[in-house]
Amino acid sequence: SYVGIHATGFRDFLLKPELLRAIGDCGFEHPSEVQQVCIPQSILGTDVLCQAKSGLGKTAVFVLSTLQQLDPVPGEISTLVICHTRELAYQIRNEYARFSKYMPDVKTEVFYGGTPIKRDIEKLKSKDTCPHIVVATPGRLHALVNEKAIRLSNVKSFVIDECDKVLESIDMRRDVQDIFRNTPHQKQVMMFSATLSQEIRPICKKFMQNPLEIYVDDEAKLTLHGLQQYYIKLDEKEKNRKLSDLLDSLEFNQVIIFVKSTQRANELNKLLCACNFPSIAVHSGLPQEERIERYKSFKEFNKRICVSTDVFGRGIDIERINLAINYDLPNEADQYLHRVGRAGRFGTKGLAISLVSNKEDEEVLEKIQSRFDVKVTEFPEEGVDPSTY
Ligand code: ADP
Ligand code: MG
Repeated sequence: SYVGIHATGFRDFLLKPELLRAIGDCGFEHPSEVQQVCIPQSILGTDVLCQAKSGLGKTAVFVLSTLQQLDPVPGEISTLVICHTRELAYQIRNEYARFSKYMPDVKTEVFYGGTPIKRDIEKLKSKDTCPHIVVATPGRLHALVNEKAIRLSNVKSFVIDECDKVLESIDMRRDVQDIFRNTPHQKQVMMFSATLSQEIRPICKKFMQNPLEIYVDDEAKLTLHGLQQYYIKLDEKEKNRKLSDLLDSLEFNQVIIFVKSTQRANELNKLLCACNFPSIAVHSGLPQEERIERYKSFKEFNKRICVSTDVFGRGIDIERINLAINYDLPNEADQYLHRVGRAGRFGTKGLAISLVSNKEDEEVLEKIQSRFDVKVTEFPEEGVDPSTY
């Protein structure tokens, strides 16, 4: 037999048959690089601090390894996953549902703010409804801990997704520390992000013991090669006109348009709808139910255009997005990387266009190019061949 010519498959991880079956149903054929590097160790309970490119399957690393290790006991929470937005928490809960499809005893719940906490408390009270896996945002989870409504003494895996974002925010970090103190000392801790600066790494490691550390130290390697990146220089007041031209002329499946404020999201959304571009706006100013409804609706392809603040800037995975437009540029290079990563998931092709209207924008664009060693070129007048994105 051939030795050496052997592509690693999910089978090689010796996962439970229930998991392998679900992986097959999801259409995953081969583990991505980050999955190959992390899963063999993470299923053994090793702590993991992992930086890996956007869209290459970090979620499945922790979902599969926590499910692999899970031995569900009624009334006991054994896995805790924390992330920074409600939609992401909701999305991760759905990933657990997908992969635990053949594990009928496993219960997963998602808890986040903006919904009645009473409902969460009721669920946690009874053995019949108490989940084994909890996915939550820091604020709501902290409130549940304060209310003594959630028992964390059986937690065996503690996961933070988009960990740099969670731990850089003072409020979220404080909540996480409090939550962490309520879990047993002996447990597995795993953290993930596409961006992990030198400054945040020691902060993450404070929560860990002897972790497997995976970094992308050469930031150029964070560039998504299937993604074409362009800029357009214009005046602020020309943005709407230009956007409408782009939406008219570009062929896209779904587009996400990033703006810098809730107000601008609402205004632009109204304008687009009035101009016969049926769109949906997503931002933190919406009532919670409405926010999730809109996320679902966009994910289910009911609308093709989404105007969003940074609420959707990280972690959100919508397969059909192949165009990301920065109507307003973010003020940080990292955030740019996360945003454009929404187009071109799992190595697929995509197109990112940034509108540049002032000095600050130009500076951010410079920073992006030097840090990630990527050439963002001027959007060509003749447009871009649709077969290339
Ligand atoms: P990340 O968190 O690293 O940005 P995600 O975990 O959101 O990336 O995964 C991006 C997309 O790739 C998801 O739609 C996911 O279902 C898909 N995906 C993950 N792993 C695989 C795989 N091994 N084969 C095929 N698709 C995968
Ligand atoms: Mg992710």
